[in-house]
Amino acid sequence: MHEALDFNTYRKFKLPYTKDESDLSRRVGYKIGIAKTQLIFDFPFFGYIITQFDIFPTRDIDGMLTDFKTLYYNPESVFDYTVEEIQQSLIHLILHLILKHPERRKGKNKEIFSIAAEISVDLMMEDIIKTQNKTNWKQRDTSRLINFLGLPTEKIYSIIYEEVESMEDESSDSNVPSDEITEDILQQIMDKYDASRGCSFDEAADMMEEHMTSETSNLMSESFNGLMRSSFDQIKDIGNLPESLRSYLQNLLEPELPWTQLLQNYIQKTIMVDWKWNPPNRRFIGRGMHLPSPDKEHMTIVIAVDTSGSISQNELDTFISEIYGIINSITRMKLILITCDAKVHDVFIFEDGESMDGVPMPWDGMTFTGGGGTRFEPVFKYVNNHFNPDLLCYFTDGYGSYPDPDIVSYPTLWIMTSKSHPKVTVGSVIYFNSTNQNNR
Ligand SMILES: [Zn+2]
Repeated sequence: MHEALDFNTYRKFKLPYTKDESDLSRRVGYKIGIAKTQLIFDFPFFGYIITQFDIFPTRDIDGMLTDFKTLYYNPESVFDYTVEEIQQSLIHLILHLILKHPERRKGKNKEIFSIAAEISVDLMMEDIIKTQNKTNWKQRDTSRLINFLGLPTEKIYSIIYEEVESMEDESSDSNVPSDEITEDILQQIMDKYDASRGCSFDEAADMMEEHMTSETSNLMSESFNGLMRSSFDQIKDIGNLPESLRSYLQNLLEPELPWTQLLQNYIQKTIMVDWKWNPPNRRFIGRGMHLPSPDKEHMTIVIAVDTSGSISQNELDTFISEIYGIINSITRMKLILITCDAKVHDVFIFEDGESMDGVPMPWDGMTFTGGGGTRFEPVFKYVNNHFNPDLLCYFTDGYGSYPDPDIVSYPTLWIMTSKSHPKVTVGSVIYFNSTNQNNR
């Protein structure tokens, strides 16, 4: 019988501490329960997460400690905590998990990472306290941490790491291996940032590394992501999370999709709805995409390209080749490519991947006429006079004169190279981002 790691193994996992089933444990457990319930009211995001954790009393640790699914506590030390101190410690511990510190610590110097992780958590805690107006909560003096505001933990880590290195260079003892920091230097760093030794996070991370297989820790982390996601979805509309945490979570949980994916979603949602779904197009399957073949004589898509010069040749080349890949995978499609700066210059028509004017596909090395000011209306006027498109995509940086919405009677999608642009008068916007980059 082979031992497969499954969900059950993960569910039953506990760090190897001895359970303390004394009466005191029960009483302190009850107090932690009150703190958890209050968290649901005061900080629903954290409250929801922590109520999904098991609690486990043990005298093998100090205070409280978490892996990704259990809250371990020492009944004797937590007995002296006020309910508010328990709440604050719980948020602190959960922040380490939310910020993925156990994973991010791997391969780094533990002492320096511990200082950096505490700084990250303390800065975020300060935001939380401010947002919630919890004036009676303990707060680290963050005045010396001003340079770290808004930085990810890795960045804080590397700044401190460099400082440690330059301190080591100054001290003449060159025999010290670089991954072992002297107590003296560590103390100087902690004094500089008014830092203390990290919290129980360090022990938790050590224990997890020692006692969890990588499969278990992956499962833990994935399952914790799910917990964060559902908690975030539940409270998103209430909006009592500080901006720093909210945007961190948004990036983590709702990674920005590549624009090609957004365009496909848009096509699927907007213009394929009424069409019958044929077996998927073969060319598509090869690309790993699942758009249906339209059961209509022709789908007509207009691609307008802003050639006023505010879009770089590199952006233009990327756009053209990627859009060609997507659009050309739809069979029975008429594609109209229009270039425009302040006026319409070129109009190319392609049907079923064949050029109607002898222009080579896929437009390799094609140069477009343009360079004047930017106006968008000429394209819409031209289209209204000549075609009846199912979709118009406009590739631009967004600075130009927009059409009167009354003259636009078809779905319009702006593919913008810049996130700061005037408000569009008609249609939806997606942002052009390089598809081969990881957006985090
Ligand atoms: Zn901590």
